[in-house]
Amino acid sequence: MRPEILFSLFNPVNKLAGIGPRLSKLIEKAAGPNLIDLTWHLPTGLVTRENLEMLSPEFVDREVLLVVDVLKHIPSRNRRAPYRINCLIGEENLTLVFFNGREDYLRRQLPEGEKRKISGKLEDFNGAYQMTHPDHIATLAEESSIPLFEPVYPLTAGLTNQTFIKANRQIFPSLPDLPEWNDQPLLLREDWSEWKESIVKAHSPTSEADFDRTNPARERLAYDELLANQLALELVRRSMKRKPGRALHGDGALLKEVRKALSFSLTSAQESALDEIISDMGAPHRMLRLLQGDVGSGKTAVALLAMIRAVEAGAQATIMAPTEILARQHFASIEPLATQIGLNCVLITGRLKGKKRDVILADLASGTVNLVIGTHALFQEDVAFYDLGLAIIDEQHRFGVHQRLALSDKGRKENGGVDVLVMTATPIPRTLALTAYGDMDVSIIAEKPPGRKPIDTRALSIERLDSVAEGLSRKLQTGERIYWVCPLVEESEVLEVAAAEERFEYLKHLYGDQVGLIHGRMKSDLKDETMHSFMSGEIKILVATTVIEVGVDVPEATVMIIEHSERFGLAQLHQLRGRVGRGGLPGSCLLLYVSPLGETQKARLAIMRETEDGFQIAEEDLRLRGAGELLGTRQSGLPVFRLADLQSHSRLLSIARDDARLILEKDETLSTDRGQALRVLLYLFERDNAIKYLNSG
Ligand code: ADP
Ligand code: MG
Repeated sequence: MRPEILFSLFNPVNKLAGIGPRLSKLIEKAAGPNLIDLTWHLPTGLVTRENLEMLSPEFVDREVLLVVDVLKHIPSRNRRAPYRINCLIGEENLTLVFFNGREDYLRRQLPEGEKRKISGKLEDFNGAYQMTHPDHIATLAEESSIPLFEPVYPLTAGLTNQTFIKANRQIFPSLPDLPEWNDQPLLLREDWSEWKESIVKAHSPTSEADFDRTNPARERLAYDELLANQLALELVRRSMKRKPGRALHGDGALLKEVRKALSFSLTSAQESALDEIISDMGAPHRMLRLLQGDVGSGKTAVALLAMIRAVEAGAQATIMAPTEILARQHFASIEPLATQIGLNCVLITGRLKGKKRDVILADLASGTVNLVIGTHALFQEDVAFYDLGLAIIDEQHRFGVHQRLALSDKGRKENGGVDVLVMTATPIPRTLALTAYGDMDVSIIAEKPPGRKPIDTRALSIERLDSVAEGLSRKLQTGERIYWVCPLVEESEVLEVAAAEERFEYLKHLYGDQVGLIHGRMKSDLKDETMHSFMSGEIKILVATTVIEVGVDVPEATVMIIEHSERFGLAQLHQLRGRVGRGGLPGSCLLLYVSPLGETQKARLAIMRETEDGFQIAEEDLRLRGAGELLGTRQSGLPVFRLADLQSHSRLLSIARDDARLILEKDETLSTDRGQALRVLLYLFERDNAIKYLNSG
């Protein structure tokens, strides 16, 4: 339950005076539905006004504050002409200009023969002073109501800055006095004010410096947000670790057999990741580890061996993939090896139905099944393991913290917690990983399997399409495979599919039956069939929408062509490129673009040509796009921050991480005074989910 002290902040914006249904919709669109969202919505600019007694040319194009004598209204003669009001400042004339001005309103605001205080930008119109739409008009009695400094807010069409300010300023007097959750020494050291004061300050800039992200008020608020994030993650982590662990040991016999059955030996990077995982599994606590490795670094082999270790210990192991195709691919590579050493391996996806499903679930529950590969269909309630020991989540940024937990809950209570390994194909910069995974233990596979040649990456104008297409004939003669990825059309899958079909027809015209098509709207049977034909070489050119993005492994694939590459994000381009050059032959990647390119688009394509290092690409992506957009945050389960900026606040993030750890070490149940204040913080940032881990054992 949300603490009472926060109730007022979570009132909807339509509770504010003067904000009816129309305005509250607009405010909701710009900032969010509740009063708290208005407080988080910080200004991004500033109007600084100069108080003028007299007009002079140097003030043209500046924001000014003036007392005017209103002389004469000149209503517009037709719809297009503006409404004018002649005024005097001392000896100088100033014309006020209003488009679509309403006469009765303007006559009330600016009565002829009276003085008014106004503000706005001074303009020069053919040598005469003019002001279009003054932003404030006040009588002399209320002149102090026009501020010298005014924040400018990010808005939405139909919402004016003045309206937003009017709404926003109503909140200040009633901001609750929240208990302080930050440590006094930290507040002193950083020169931070209390929460309420920081909010007011952050909304009341008086200089450009106040917009700097390192401004104390903004830093304090960003820190609060990061602390809530880190505290929530730490609570989850501790609750998982608190559950009694289980030591999964083995004699190494099965591992040895699988290693022999593999067509390669592990790289030293894979070996050391596996060592870390196996020693974690053997320890009596619960494993909670992140296995990070670029596309093609060989995570799957490590995952397989970890699963085999669990089986050696007499337990079952599962790996969950984010898509059906990926799950099938894992199954296709793991199942033969498993069978070869006498293990029983099954596939559970949403398509498994009826009798077949009943049989598999029964075998799973009785323990006849050792290894399970699946999609999120594994979450279904009737999927029950006999004794799950290890859950691997091949995450690719698609599952959230809570889903990871849900899978680990499928273990036997009396045997302690399931060991959890999350695999992620990098591009998650370190800072972002910390906010999404908190302090999970991390193993990194930083080196690629031997024999990989650099991928020749080029950017070409789409005008070269015909020659690119014709050039493929040479590759086809050597049995190489080609991916042809069609433009990403975010607004419409139908358009995306249409583009792919068109390209398919075009290539088919050149290469006949060697060309195949795969897209998101196809039935999954057909998708699998097409993928198989591509793997077996029946199809050599695969025209695809972005469905192939994740994890598909075809060693013969050597060419990746991406149309409209300028529409893709860096992480996506990197993932796609990672699909080629996995076998012995050198790979190439052609980034076709449509001119003219914007600055960011140019920069992205340049980075792709310069490096194949996923971490570096991820950092650049973060720099170019900002964390919010990275990897398509909505579907990714990565946190979105309102106040913190991971680039400029990374210093704060590491303080928050240490702080969160220390707090829970000293006060595990958050029951001291500071602990109570921290609970308020969690609710303030709507991390209510984490609260339940406080009490559960
Ligand atoms: P990831 O899942 O990290 O993207 P994969 O596990 O799919 O990478 O491995 C990519 C390819 O490299 C696969 O074809 C796999 O068989 C191969 N591979 C993995 N480890 C090695 C190794 N040590 N030596 C040679 N090839 C390897
Ligand atoms: Mg893989």
